[in-house]
Amino acid sequence: MTTTSSVLITGASTGIGAIYAERFARRGHDLVLVARDKARLDTLATRLQQEHGVAVDVLPADLTQSSGLVAVEARLRDDTRIGTLINNAGIAQSGSFIEQTPDAIERLIALNTTALTRLANAVAPRFAQAGEGSIVNISSVVGLAPEFSMSVYGATKAFVLFLSQGMSLELSPKGVYVQTVLPAGTYTEIWERAGIDISTSSEMMEVGELVDAALVGFDRRELVTIPPLHNAARWDALDAARQALLSDIKQAEVAERYKTVL
Ligand code: NAP
Repeated sequence: MTTTSSVLITGASTGIGAIYAERFARRGHDLVLVARDKARLDTLATRLQQEHGVAVDVLPADLTQSSGLVAVEARLRDDTRIGTLINNAGIAQSGSFIEQTPDAIERLIALNTTALTRLANAVAPRFAQAGEGSIVNISSVVGLAPEFSMSVYGATKAFVLFLSQGMSLELSPKGVYVQTVLPAGTYTEIWERAGIDISTSSEMMEVGELVDAALVGFDRRELVTIPPLHNAARWDALDAARQALLSDIKQAEVAERYKTVL
């Protein structure tokens, strides 16, 4: 990626995406901002153009709808100025699994997994062909923790982590950088939008600090960036344990403990 390539950010109208937009504008990158709320995108675009002298396009789209998704995919495929995709748009959901409705579950999966995957898939071939480009996928520490009682949301975020790791294995030899970012609770609108009361929760991270930390990881070309994780060795140990487990899976032979009944 050249330093002047543009950056397409989904979910850029507020929260983490809006801060990514501000930070990349500060670095001199032109932007393409995607979300549903055109008025908010326009306001942000005007401010970033004035303050940082970069070109900012807004591309309003509902990424849970085929028409919106197809338009953003086309932009990613065809606009060769775009060198970075920040795959950030996402929603959370309140309630336990048995309380959640089919429609709400479908919307969550459509945005957090289907849209994210399709957008990455739209841009990756061009990046691989060019031998450069970056894809940042926003996951969550909830994807590591079924204990947090956000099963569907957490499952979508576990999906994002797995997908990103697989994409990285395939694309890094072709010169494409794939970063997964796992924030923990961060002050944004996501909670209120999902109807989750955070007034009694323990303190959360400020969104600017979260994005700045994620960008430190980005600049270091880190594969997995977990800003709230203080002991980095914990992640390394988890990943090493997973790899050790793989070496113990022998697909042609049933494990001894399953060879006796009860
Ligand atoms: P947020 O403040 O609620 O912002 C979400 C963004 O996504 C908004 O710009 C919203 O804009 C956009 N969006 C929502 N539905 C959309 C749709 N159907 N089509 C297109 N855009 C849509 O949330 P956030 O906290 O910044 O979250 C950003 C990402 O970080 C998400 O993937 C989230 O899961 C992840 N994350 C957040 C936290 C946290 O505590 N905040 C923790 C871990 C991970 P419009 O409404 O204008 O469409």
